[in-house]
Amino acid sequence: MSEANPIDNFMDTVRQATPVLGIAALKPKGACWYCNQPLDNVRKFCSKTCADDYRTEEEVFRNIAK
Ligand SMILES: [Zn+2]
Repeated sequence: MSEANPIDNFMDTVRQATPVLGIAALKPKGACWYCNQPLDNVRKFCSKTCADDYRTEEEVFRNIAK
């Protein structure tokens, strides 16, 4: 509980260097990340379509942000 764990630091670096993680880095929030339809606490999207659309929008946003 004292100093930062070197592995945590490494993972932070990986996360920053690989924005491709995108959806994989999302945490289930009890609703679809795309359309907000209520879900269980395991899934991130209510359907593959929502996952695909979310990924598409995220890529667009990332391209704009460059
Ligand atoms: Zn959805």
